Amino acid sequence: MVTLTLAGGRVWDGLDGASTAGDVHLSEGVIASTAPEGARVLDVSGCTVLPGLIEGHTHLAFNAQPDWRAVYDGDSRERMLLRMQGHAMVALRSGITTVRDLGAPTDLAVTLRDAIQGGLVAGADLVVAGAPVTTTGGHCWFMGGEADGELGVRVGVRERVKAGVDWIKVMASGGNMTPGSNPFAAQYSVAELRAIIEEAHRLDRRVAAHAHGVVGIEVAVEAGVDVLEHCSFQTAAGSVKDLGVIAEIARKGILVSPTISGRLIDQPDRFPQRADLVRALFEAGCDIFMSTDSGIPGLPHDDIVRALRTMQAMTAQSAVEVLRLATSTSARLLRLTDRGTIAPGQRADLLVVEGDPTRDLETLERVRAVVAGGRLVRWEG
Ligand SMILES: [Zn+2]
Repeated sequence: MVTLTLAGGRVWDGLDGASTAGDVHLSEGVIASTAPEGARVLDVSGCTVLPGLIEGHTHLAFNAQPDWRAVYDGDSRERMLLRMQGHAMVALRSGITTVRDLGAPTDLAVTLRDAIQGGLVAGADLVVAGAPVTTTGGHCWFMGGEADGELGVRVGVRERVKAGVDWIKVMASGGNMTPGSNPFAAQYSVAELRAIIEEAHRLDRRVAAHAHGVVGIEVAVEAGVDVLEHCSFQTAAGSVKDLGVIAEIARKGILVSPTISGRLIDQPDRFPQRADLVRALFEAGCDIFMSTDSGIPGLPHDDIVRALRTMQAMTAQSAVEVLRLATSTSARLLRLTDRGTIAPGQRADLLVVEGDPTRDLETLERVRAVVAGGRLVRWEG
């Protein structure tokens, strides 16, 4: 295992303060408090070392292009697995060291996660849900996750846990990307969602619910899911926030994964409504972490920087506040407590950029180095 010192730059530890001058040492895959003997020294003067970014909602199996569905349907399983690994590498090289994949064929997601963790192939460290639990013909049915009725969804959860998933994803509403599903209607009853949640919790997994439409959100909140994905309050007339439902999300401690699209900033028709909604979620005290839905058309797997800048434009938060959403806050809310901060003993997942991202998020585009699990995976020396 590499011993390394990143010397002469600044450090942002993932917490409240701005960056400070200092060196970062790593040994045996974790951050060390002192320089390990014989460490390779990398000069990172003019740069800032920060925790590797955590992407909360990705689809590694999608190619981020308009032809995504034809490509998905045309892929052999072997080719899809290679595509997923390629996308995990695109994310990693941009400084995203952890990715939560929320929709891919179950066995491929689990196989790739284990291959990366075992050092067989390179890529961002994965947390996977496998195929989303969805109704027959429902949103993303083509991933192989159809299940109906209380017994059916319980079996669905058990099968996924048996296969080795980390999370259970359920499609609580239809989606925009599946013709024939209805984003404005709920896909499951409260009783079906409760069966999923009960079964998942019994097996020590949490439930992430895709919910675009207001009705789907209401049903998911009433059932008590752990995380709302998108939470976009969509109606046929656009995004319409419901402060009563938002207050209930906060009261129940349901996490929000807002899937911020970096494209939104160029969509003046959609931006103000979505920004208003995201601000309302923060103001209500909801627990929010950073996610993008990368892999869908127009959102490549390294899109989190654009999304972070969009988040800043939406909420007028400081650069540090926004960065925390993709580092220490994500790690805490997703219960990945070995990462997201720079402190002795933490996983050595690091991003090094030219300049100071605690002052200017655009510096995240200027990657000097990426370290994942103590391995130097990118170095622009
Ligand atoms: Zn998604």
